[in-house]
Amino acid sequence: MSTFSLDPGPDQLAVRDWLHGFAADVMRPAAAEWDEREETPWPIIQEAARLGIYSLDFYAQQYFDPSGVGIPIAMEELFWGDAGLGLAIVGTTLAAVAVLANGTDEQIGTWAPQMFGTPDDLKLAAFCSSEPDAGSDVSALRTRAVYQEATDEWVLNGTKTWATNGGIADVHVVVATVDPALGARGQASFIVPPGTRGLAQGQKFKKHGIRASHTAEVVLDDVRLPGHCLLGGKEKLDERLARARERAAGTAAGSGGSRGSGKNAAMATFEASRPAVGAQAIGIARAAYEVALDYAGTRVQFGRPIIDNQGVAFQLADMRTRIDASRLLVWRASWMAATNQPFTAAEGSMSKLYAGETAKWVTAQAMQILGGNGYTREYPVERMHRDSAIYTVFEGTSEIQRLVIARAISGLPIR
Ligand SMILES: Cc1cc2nc3c(=O)[nH]c(=O)nc-3n(C[C@H](O)[C@H](O)[C@H](O)COP(=O)(O)OP(=O)(O)OC[C@H]3O[C@@H](n4cnc5c(N)ncnc54)[C@H](O)[C@@H]3O)c2cc1C
Repeated sequence: MSTFSLDPGPDQLAVRDWLHGFAADVMRPAAAEWDEREETPWPIIQEAARLGIYSLDFYAQQYFDPSGVGIPIAMEELFWGDAGLGLAIVGTTLAAVAVLANGTDEQIGTWAPQMFGTPDDLKLAAFCSSEPDAGSDVSALRTRAVYQEATDEWVLNGTKTWATNGGIADVHVVVATVDPALGARGQASFIVPPGTRGLAQGQKFKKHGIRASHTAEVVLDDVRLPGHCLLGGKEKLDERLARARERAAGTAAGSGGSRGSGKNAAMATFEASRPAVGAQAIGIARAAYEVALDYAGTRVQFGRPIIDNQGVAFQLADMRTRIDASRLLVWRASWMAATNQPFTAAEGSMSKLYAGETAKWVTAQAMQILGGNGYTREYPVERMHRDSAIYTVFEGTSEIQRLVIARAISGLPIR
């Protein structure tokens, strides 16, 4: 019989403290520099790898933590250190999770280690789904994958955009459409191994925040991949496509069809991965809140610290309350994923929505509490505010999270 507890165990607390040390001693002092440079912070990733923080083993350990809170605790701590550097360190995990969710055991064993490399030979991975005309509407992807039976090869053509680590990664995971008529159900994911001809980086984006994280277009021009690079394998894909075609035919004939297990599986994966992104947002919010709390206690105006004014103290009370509420939502959804609870109210999306909006709001309040100083790069809160803004956009915008929640709670196809 399990008992209710919000106490992380001693192992999780030890990981948290270890990561906090790295965030405070290595990330914090380097954050402003890499934000200005807008380059991939190789020395920081290297140091994370040397300590075992940038490693498959570390993420696997947190990912399989039975309570579910291993990943949220790790993300919060790293992003408390700095979001741009944090994303540079954890960006690879996006692609790793896609392999874990869709790959065979053999594919996971082959590719996951190659995505991280070793401290002496670092590797990165990128997950490429978004396209210029397919952002929130993933079903509109145009990148095409065509199978050539004679050579057992897949040929990929298209342009991906907004890919974290895109073009500088060693391993790219690319989502492409195999049967455009089937929309999202006609898509599959492919591994593009290191050095594959035809894959090139397009423009690298100059961003508002998380500037130490590389974001770029990825162009696929007749990229030829051996059959074994299809995640999950051909047999499984053929079965899935056949089911989708049957369902499409059934729907066209007016039978109404049923909600596909493929779509449900994809939704379950999103629900399970979104809390991790929410935890990153909490890290940023907590960092900004701490700066503001400290500042409010020391900045004197009208002969008293500004925190002595209810107007300022209440702002801090609300900031802390929303941060803690976000963490509870994130931990609940992570625990639900780890214990295979059904996400009947889209609790994963809920946690990402609330934490993302909270980070943007809390960092804005922090800037206000710091007055003119909050507006300068002498203090970190303006960077935190810029960094936080992505958390209402990527991994599903806030509007898309609301759409998913609204559909889950109503059972209606809300548009
Ligand atoms: C820094 C960064 C890193 C990223 N990393 C990756 C990555 O590694 N891999 C990857 O594949 N993608 C990545 N993305 C892409 C990201 O997931 C998309 O930007 C996001 O899904 C939104 O898509 P979009 O930008 O095309 O916006 P759009 O979909 O065009 O949305 C524009 C606006 O319309 C709203 N909107 C759209 N549809 C609806 C609707 N039905 N109801 C209500 N409102 C709606 C949106 O909420 C938004 O406010 C990244 C993006 C950024 C900026």
